[in-house]
Amino acid sequence: MTAPLIGCHALVWTGSFDSAGIIDSVIRTHRAGFNLIEFPLMDPEGFDTRVARTALADTGLLATASLGLPEHADISSDDDDVVAAGSRMLTAAVDVAAEIGAKQLCGVLYGAMKKHMSPLSERGWANSIRTMRQIADHAASVGVALALEVVNRYETNMLNTGRQALRYLEALDRPVSVHLDTYHMNIEESDLFQPFLDCSDRLGYVHIGESHRGYLGTGSVDFDTCFKALGRIGYTGPIVFESFSSAVVSPSLSRMLGIWRDLWQDSDHLGAHANQYIRGHLDAVQTIALH
Ligand code: MN
Repeated sequence: MTAPLIGCHALVWTGSFDSAGIIDSVIRTHRAGFNLIEFPLMDPEGFDTRVARTALADTGLLATASLGLPEHADISSDDDDVVAAGSRMLTAAVDVAAEIGAKQLCGVLYGAMKKHMSPLSERGWANSIRTMRQIADHAASVGVALALEVVNRYETNMLNTGRQALRYLEALDRPVSVHLDTYHMNIEESDLFQPFLDCSDRLGYVHIGESHRGYLGTGSVDFDTCFKALGRIGYTGPIVFESFSSAVVSPSLSRMLGIWRDLWQDSDHLGAHANQYIRGHLDAVQTIALH
């Protein structure tokens, strides 16, 4: 059995992705016991891939990259210039991912990550599909796989459930996978079991987050059921801890996600706890085979 890739979102450690932030987040992710770090590429052009590559090589940590498209680069827009800007941003993010050796780019890649005030238009859907095909082909050519994150209604008007993501993938007709996140599932899905089974072999990436995005086990997400489902489908992809507090602020991302409260202060304690929590659940679920 392949060892699970247990990762941590870099915003647990730092809100600024300059050289110091990149190095610090890699060292502390490794120290907390994870074997993967997810870098949010809110500014792909400004990300120092050389520094990241060196830090990753020094620790042996693997990396993935993620992105939520901003409003001015929304590939689901009706405006062709905005779609073109989104295409450029996604291409840059794919290239950064490839340069740091990340095998996956995940997140809200299919449209703007924001509170929308109107439903998606037919033209917006078509623009997103057409652009995503080009991005998926480019990504495949440089060895990066794309995973599309399903998020709640306040962060997208496109993919709020796993089944909606599957319909998008059917229209896309490319080897792109679904990225599920327990924080969002807890808001939109029927439960924390069926969506994993629905996605099954199309599931390529998982975020583990609490209902308030704080310490795992202190909110209302049904993690016991979630890990049973991951065990049932034999999921072997990355499982990445995502948590945010006003103790660590990324000026762009934290505000968009509505991180106004201080749910924790000690990143090192939080990270070590999450790493053990996830591994403990995965170990326990393995024994279901003996039942
Ligand atoms: Mn997420």
